[in-house]
Amino acid sequence: MPAKKLCSLVKNGFHKEDTKAYKEFLRDAKYMCKKCGRAAAKAKCLCKSSKI
Ligand SMILES: [Zn+2]
Repeated sequence: MPAKKLCSLVKNGFHKEDTKAYKEFLRDAKYMCKKCGRAAAKAKCLCKSSKI
């Protein structure tokens, strides 16, 4: 299964459907998406990641 980007998951309502999994993405977030403003622990989860 290919790893989906958090950015696109959120657009599909993922953060509302699975709050627990969404929080896992955000835990210890070190990267932020320059395009969408989302934060995530892994750079590969974001479409335009930037270190924070
Ligand atoms: Zn993004």
